Amino acid sequence: MWSSIRQFIDRHDSFVISSHINPDGDAIGSELGLARFLRQIGKRAVIVNSTDTPDVLRFLDTADEIHVYGEPDVRGLIDGIDAAIIVDVNNWDHLGHIGRALQALSLPRACIDHHQGEVAGFAETTVADTSAAAVGLLILELIRDMKGRVTQDIADPLYAAIITDTGTFRFSNTDARVLRAAAELTDAGANPFEMHRRVFGSKSWGAGRLLGPVLSTLESVAGGKVAVISATLEMVNNAGANYDDTDGFVDLVRAIKGVELVAFFKETTEGDIKVSLRSNGNVDANAMARRFGGGGHTMASGMRLPGPMKRAIEDFLRECARLDDFPVR
Ligand code: 5GP
Ligand code: MN
Repeated sequence: MWSSIRQFIDRHDSFVISSHINPDGDAIGSELGLARFLRQIGKRAVIVNSTDTPDVLRFLDTADEIHVYGEPDVRGLIDGIDAAIIVDVNNWDHLGHIGRALQALSLPRACIDHHQGEVAGFAETTVADTSAAAVGLLILELIRDMKGRVTQDIADPLYAAIITDTGTFRFSNTDARVLRAAAELTDAGANPFEMHRRVFGSKSWGAGRLLGPVLSTLESVAGGKVAVISATLEMVNNAGANYDDTDGFVDLVRAIKGVELVAFFKETTEGDIKVSLRSNGNVDANAMARRFGGGGHTMASGMRLPGPMKRAIEDFLRECARLDDFPVR
């Protein structure tokens, strides 16, 4: 599986590593693990994303390695770089404006991802393993393949990546492969209690205050098979919270008995609506998101819709109602 990526890494000396907008623990953890491994084997690696690292994940970026495209001096960092490695995303839209910069520079590109629906021509060298629970797991397997050492500063971000995408080994993507990887990372120094506390147990007071208003929007659609919640900018601002503080809300609602699909609508500062979809197994959330130009996985996907909020929710429910395989009827 790794020979093409291995050759890609051998062929080049310096890499820009990037991932999707609003990076999550799998994006950040995979980038850091990969960058640190590349330096271990004598390469240069710079991480540049389109949007900021969420506050709760900053503890992983111990040496301020992650840059945001558009900040002063970042262009200079990319100048003269040989190649790009893109992780945890497989399309230009979701990569954001760093993607346009990479295209303009026409750097050779490799992609390491686990999402469905790879876009043709996105990268010349691709590992797209949709059975991998997290890209962090794939980075560990790449390091094993290339006979690298899993040092603590690699084990920590890869463990964080894995618990993010498996919901700490609860989601349907949890399998023996990812549990073995977690054990290996634990042997290498990652502390499961500490990592879980940092990634999921470091909510802000703003997040606490936002939970009530958001859960009070809960609406049951299609006889309780679809649950809809929403967060307006006003709610977020009144709570003194920010966009990332809504992380995890969608999983609280997914736990309601009988719910097949959760749709969480979040108003962004740009005025459009970011939607997070979560399935309980019978509905293909990825297929649903793709109808609106988004994507992701069968159980978890997302997309952006034009605002305002009311219109986005109506458009979504109207489209759902047209689907044969959909519970909205
Ligand atoms: P979340 O709801 O946590 O933001 O995203 C869930 C999953 O869907 C993630 O795997 C994420 O990469 C994917 N996803 C979220 N939003 C988008 C989007 O706008 N486009 C695509 N292609 N995938 C998305
Ligand atoms: Mn992922």
